[in-house]
Amino acid sequence: MKEERKRVAIIGSGIAGLASCHILGEKYDVTIFEREATLGMDSQSISIPPCTSRVDVPLRIFNPRFYPLLTKLYTSTAVSFAPCSSEFSSSWITKEKGVAGYFKYSNLSIGKLGIPYFSLNLSPMNWLTSKHKYRPSYLKTLYSTVLHSVSLFRFFLFSPFYIGARSALGMKPTTLGQYLKGGLVPYPKAFIYDLLYPMLSVVCTCSYSSLDAYPAKTIIEYYNTYGILTWFPNPLRTRLQYGGAHCRVTEGINSVCEKLSKRATTCVFNSNVTEVVPGEKPLVVSGDGSSREFDYVVVATQPHHASALLPQAKPELLDALKQWKYEHSSVYVHRCDSLMPSRECDWSNVNIMVGPRTTGLDGSQCSIWLNRLDDSIPKDVYQTWNPAFKLEDEKILKYAEFTRPVVTMDTEKHCKVVKENQGSGGVFLVGSYSRFDMPLLENAVKSGKEVGEILDVKF
Ligand SMILES: Cc1cc2nc3c(=O)[nH]c(=O)nc-3n(C[C@H](O)[C@H](O)[C@H](O)COP(=O)(O)OP(=O)(O)OC[C@H]3O[C@@H](n4cnc5c(N)ncnc54)[C@H](O)[C@@H]3O)c2cc1C
Repeated sequence: MKEERKRVAIIGSGIAGLASCHILGEKYDVTIFEREATLGMDSQSISIPPCTSRVDVPLRIFNPRFYPLLTKLYTSTAVSFAPCSSEFSSSWITKEKGVAGYFKYSNLSIGKLGIPYFSLNLSPMNWLTSKHKYRPSYLKTLYSTVLHSVSLFRFFLFSPFYIGARSALGMKPTTLGQYLKGGLVPYPKAFIYDLLYPMLSVVCTCSYSSLDAYPAKTIIEYYNTYGILTWFPNPLRTRLQYGGAHCRVTEGINSVCEKLSKRATTCVFNSNVTEVVPGEKPLVVSGDGSSREFDYVVVATQPHHASALLPQAKPELLDALKQWKYEHSSVYVHRCDSLMPSRECDWSNVNIMVGPRTTGLDGSQCSIWLNRLDDSIPKDVYQTWNPAFKLEDEKILKYAEFTRPVVTMDTEKHCKVVKENQGSGGVFLVGSYSRFDMPLLENAVKSGKEVGEILDVKF
């Protein structure tokens, strides 16, 4: 007689919930509870006719070499994806528009290789033909570009040694802010605030003050393992590797979600779960007061939502979840050219705009030129994270808010508590936040894989 499959509830269907569904669905009977009307990863996406597929909001890119598990998940569920250029430019934001971009990073895609290079964007012709009100001297522009490039190489090349040596000597871990601004030869402020932090604030979707408090190790290891650093010979690695091109999914995000959730027996939408009661048969309590019993429950929400769902969890777990730091931010899909760099020659796929340091802005703005990444999207549609200016209402196609966990010096401790409590009372926690690493898609899939291993499913 066929043995009845054990029942697993997954609360939340962002990438962590969907990955868990695919992994656990191989052996278990999976029910997804999602408070939105569609699968969570698709809940903010938008249709922009005549483009037929739904556009991801926020637009999430990945790199197969740095995201091996996400790539495996997409490949094994037949999600299509293709390389896209991750070139970016940095420009100033000022009230009197028209200040030139000051840095451009490009990525030459040859087959599966993505070869990075810094375009100095300093062609004398570009500079001479600039009609802008404020035009810094050519020498000043040249100086700042050289300064940025040298500092970037210094950061990429030497930081891993510094961090490695500190840890080998048993020294106290340091924050990114302390590492960059302290020491015998601090990094130039211009490099920190005009290039590195704007770039990192986009990768981590957070403010500069949160970056100051990020563990230096987390950021440096991210670049050492994943980024441009892998281009350089480094005794901390055994071989020289090449950064592959970044990729994006090429089908609508709704279709991606459908494929990832295929193994779910049931998806309950508009279902705001209010409590998960741990126990031999953990209970899922919904907003309407109904409750259902499962063999296991996987809570795949953000940490602050998980703490609200688990009032009966062990106090140390509740404490850790409540203390997790996160930041809110907003994303617009729109047609306002005014949020793009003022000179068209500075436009890139990704356009980082930085407020002058004197204004004390605590973050950058980032606009993605959507139809440059996907030519099926109508012309001149942009997606802007953290806009510095008010957008014209009639040009807004979509507004969405997100919360994203921020890594601090306490995060490692909190992740340890999560790990020690996995499975207690039949309840597991997954999410891009839940493992001590950068809170990106790959970490969310890894968290699902780890729960799979505990529940005897290999991925
Ligand atoms: C602007 C921006 C750009 C980003 N770009 C990238 C990128 O390019 N590459 C990358 O790797 N990462 C990127 N990220 C990060 C990435 O999007 C997140 O790490 C990832 O989506 C988090 O997934 P998750 O499943 O852990 O959480 P979430 O996606 O937040 O999923 C949690 C789900 O739980 C549901 N939920 C919450 N409470 C309840 C409840 N009570 N009952 C039922 N359901 C509930 C929510 O509705 C949601 O669907 C970006 C993030 C942002 C904000």
